[in-house]
Amino acid sequence: MKTEMTMVARSIVLMAWLLVVAVPVEARENPPSAAELKAAVQEAYDKFKDVTDGANANYIPELDKVPSDLFGVAIVTARGEVFAVGDVDYSFSIQSVSKPFTAALVMQQQGAEAVAQKIGVEPTGLVFNSIMATQLIPQVSVNPLVNSGAIASVSMVKADSASQRFDAILDWFNRLAAAQLTVIEDVYQSEAATNQRNRAHAYILAASERIYSDPMEATDVYTRQCSIGVTAKQLAVMGATLANGGTNPVTGQRVLDAQYVPKVLSVMLTAGFYNESGIWSYTAGLPAKTGVGGGIVAVVPGRMAIVGFSPRLNEAGNSVRAMKAIQYISEKFGLSIFGDGR
Ligand code: GLN
Repeated sequence: MKTEMTMVARSIVLMAWLLVVAVPVEARENPPSAAELKAAVQEAYDKFKDVTDGANANYIPELDKVPSDLFGVAIVTARGEVFAVGDVDYSFSIQSVSKPFTAALVMQQQGAEAVAQKIGVEPTGLVFNSIMATQLIPQVSVNPLVNSGAIASVSMVKADSASQRFDAILDWFNRLAAAQLTVIEDVYQSEAATNQRNRAHAYILAASERIYSDPMEATDVYTRQCSIGVTAKQLAVMGATLANGGTNPVTGQRVLDAQYVPKVLSVMLTAGFYNESGIWSYTAGLPAKTGVGGGIVAVVPGRMAIVGFSPRLNEAGNSVRAMKAIQYISEKFGLSIFGDGR
């Protein structure tokens, strides 16, 4: 009788163990379902909506006017499903989140080698507009995700005039986003009037032939590029195009050759968060890009893009709530590209 009881007790313990431990592990090995992703986006929003740490960027005066409380979280999967909560239809300036997409255009036009040779792909470990970083290696501008390298990327886009150059970039972004994007003129004017530091970067590059069109033209087109308005949902489609190997999952059109996708994602992982790229990789484990407009796009290769949007930034210029939301979703499903550690 006693043995029977022990056996019953053991089976109960085993069943409980299977339910609590084994079943969730089994479930986590499969990609998260639509219902799970929908719930996770809502959870991330609810969990961090009241966080008020950080402050709007104010070195571009117009960005300081954007309502700080805006907050949105969006996922677009590699199959084109959309899960979004909060201010996901508010159009904010894309800022530095534009940089990997322009680098992708340069790769598409000139190959991956051209970006490595003429711009570089080394992380700087320094802030996004570090003049020191631009002076560090005299042959290249270091990588396409810091300001100097992004201006160099713009200078490499094939065009005969400034307007052609900008139109090529906007058309490329439209194809990635499956949308007709437009410039937020007030943001452009505000940054154009205060971008002396970026002009300095361009002239430093020009002094050692590391910029490939007129330096002031490239800086101005770069400034317009940063002022393009996107919603969290549109940005998530741009990211999902990378997650889907270069084919836009909404339009079904191939935008970027598949061979360039890992190159773009590689630079995003090592340099997408500037001097916080290490801790970002350590915590979220995902290639991502931030911008001072408050947007962040993270890419889970083959699966989805996760976007957070919130204007308040930390010291490194990265959106506090957007980071938290993406980290939360990545950890919840074990999405790190290095494995889930289980
Ligand atoms: N347009 C901004 C600048 O050049 C972009 C910076 C950013 O988003 N980190 O300063």
